[in-house]
Amino acid sequence: MDTLNASKHFRLENLADGVYVAYAKEDGAAWANAGIVDLGDCTIVYDTFATPQAANDLKVVAESVTGRAVDMVVNSHWHLDHVVGNQVFDVETEIYATPYTREKLLKDGIADIQQSFAEAATEIQVLTGRQAYEPDEIARADIQFSLAYLRGMTQAAPSLNIRVPNRTVEGKLTIHGSERSAELINFGANHTGGDLGLYLPNEAIIFAGDLLTVQHHPWLGEVDGNLEHWRETLKTIAGMKPKLVVPGHGSVGKNYHLKDMHDYIQTMQELVQELVEQAAMPDEVATNPIPKPYKAWRFVINNYPDSLRALHERMAAEYDE
Ligand SMILES: [Zn+2]
Repeated sequence: MDTLNASKHFRLENLADGVYVAYAKEDGAAWANAGIVDLGDCTIVYDTFATPQAANDLKVVAESVTGRAVDMVVNSHWHLDHVVGNQVFDVETEIYATPYTREKLLKDGIADIQQSFAEAATEIQVLTGRQAYEPDEIARADIQFSLAYLRGMTQAAPSLNIRVPNRTVEGKLTIHGSERSAELINFGANHTGGDLGLYLPNEAIIFAGDLLTVQHHPWLGEVDGNLEHWRETLKTIAGMKPKLVVPGHGSVGKNYHLKDMHDYIQTMQELVQELVEQAAMPDEVATNPIPKPYKAWRFVINNYPDSLRALHERMAAEYDE
């Protein structure tokens, strides 16, 4: 099997001996990146994509490159593009996450994800209509990409069965394998109320989930997230001197991409602050031009305007108090 190109949903890349990233393909139903780590006597899959179809391929490829069943799945956070594929793994496969991720899914995360699947068909109609007249090249690429995973979601909707993580990591958990070790690190509230990274100390590679997105606008509007702490966490990770940082979206990053993300978050906070002071209306906020350094970044149809709108709404409410 040509494992590197075995799936229509992702492209596999070998980062180091026993360490792989699975990049979401533009025309597939993965949506986010995932990882496969072979500890020598234990196989870990980091994040499970937005659909069971994509996750099935991930499972098959993980078994093929490591020669054994998947022992552990790790969910970086509760968002659907990182957890929906949990359901394809064997019941014996333990699923690790932060306590927040588990609690959030049980509280209203599962309902939220079910709603996204139920609304996927309508979303396809809206985006197909917009595609006909959208002049912006990046927005058009985003629409194409969204249509691909939304179609995958509508196909999967009848069999959707979110599996909640059954193991939670409070601080740090080290898995000692025969070939290498992996550390699961709970970074606390950042992109969501609880984000879990996977660090390989020997290889100096960290899987960061959506704590890092490379050349993609991140979603900043999570109610339980914490942008100040997120910026601190990015400094903490940079201080670990990783050679490679695997992002939730985009190509594998280097240490300097952590600084880029830190600066992006700060820029957006300052931008929203200005908009609040100018008493901007919600519509003006959502159509605010993208700051120059980020003009080539993807996810302009959702994360950029949606983050601005959410942050503005929250900051404006605080301002009025
Ligand atoms: Zn996310």
